[in-house]
Amino acid sequence: MKFVSTRGAAPAVSIGEAIRRGAAPDGGLYVPAGPVRIHVDALRDNSLAELGSQLLEPYFAGDTLGLHLPDICAEAFDFPAPLVAPDPRRPELRLLELFHGPTGAFKDFGARFLMACFDRLGGAEGPITILVATSGDTGGAVGCAAEGRSGVRAIILYPRGRVSAFQQHQLCCWGAPVSALEVEGDFDDCQHLVKAAFADPALAAAHRLSSANSINIGRLLPQMVYFAAAALKVHRETGVAPGFLLPTGNLGHVVAALWARDVGLPIGPVVAATNANRTLGDWHRGGDYAPQPSLPTIANAMDVGAPSNFERLERLPDPRGQITVERVDDDAIRARIRAEHERSGYVLCPHSATAVEAWERLDPARKAERVWIAAATAHPYKFADVVEPLIGKRLTPPPALAAIEGRDERKRRIPATLEALAAALAGEGPAAEAA
Ligand SMILES: *Cc1c(COP(=O)(O)O)cnc(C)c1O
Repeated sequence: MKFVSTRGAAPAVSIGEAIRRGAAPDGGLYVPAGPVRIHVDALRDNSLAELGSQLLEPYFAGDTLGLHLPDICAEAFDFPAPLVAPDPRRPELRLLELFHGPTGAFKDFGARFLMACFDRLGGAEGPITILVATSGDTGGAVGCAAEGRSGVRAIILYPRGRVSAFQQHQLCCWGAPVSALEVEGDFDDCQHLVKAAFADPALAAAHRLSSANSINIGRLLPQMVYFAAAALKVHRETGVAPGFLLPTGNLGHVVAALWARDVGLPIGPVVAATNANRTLGDWHRGGDYAPQPSLPTIANAMDVGAPSNFERLERLPDPRGQITVERVDDDAIRARIRAEHERSGYVLCPHSATAVEAWERLDPARKAERVWIAAATAHPYKFADVVEPLIGKRLTPPPALAAIEGRDERKRRIPATLEALAAALAGEGPAAEAA
């Protein structure tokens, strides 16, 4: 299997090379070069790891990384993704809980899969260095997934004073080979620094720099696996392909679900639920695709005005026909968190609430047709400051998040300059200080 760029001006590469590069050299994103064939009836889904190694086998065929696929899947899918019905009187709405990983968000799956791949790609030429500029879930998930590895190290950049105490802790609590850099600047400064490092050929080559955001196909492919597992289960149970409601920011989840449907898994309609950011919704209603500055919302992991995976969506036949889009503003998110808690006692995070709200807005005939699966993308405890006042009670952390809270923090402060980042990459400059 080869992968080509969405922009069509880069050579086709194998999966290992596509993961190693992140983006294609022409600025596009890697997609499979041709149709992918899966014998859906032959898939065994006793565990996510087992299902993952069969489902992803064709994508890894012909690359040495493919030899490690079962081990990579075992490392990435080592926690469950349960499908629950929060209200027994409403069995036609299920929640796919993707937040049982070590940092409490679905990004654990993609980050663990990707770091397991990088670990094997590093090898004899020395470790690959992952640079992540983060204000949200990705940095913590990547740090956690890189801890203790030898083929890959992770450098996390975050803006000083602009992340919550809980977020900062989740970025700074990981041991070697993970380091956190507190940048004297804002999030854009962090992103510019990362881009400047990638654009410096000597620096990029010396440290084997790569990235871990969702343009990397190594984060997208594993996301197909839990959708496949949930779809197979509901299809077996009801005989009808379930619909999916997906909280959407950079469209990583949406593209993974569409790819899974494309290879023949029993996946019905896909609804992309966005927060108040309107780029996707405006495009879907027939407008041009017009990226906008991102609007801050209470579902902040979805504050995206220029969805980075749009190029992959656009590559599919009839892209507008693939999905519907539901925009859910902050007031509607708050109202849905409150109403769901009153109805069933279930506590939604702000992101997951956009998906449940999108289900509520379906017309009754569409609701009655099939089981719908809403992705629950983060544990509500991560957004306790938003959620607790709405439901009028305190949340308790799940064991994984409680374990993080008990760890020590280590970070290093740097000015927002490429020289300072280069020194940190080389292991020079001030030592990491305990916080
Ligand atoms: C990243 C994230 C999303 C958005 O996912 P995309 O694949 O970027 O569309 C939704 N919810 C949470 C909690 C996230 O961290």
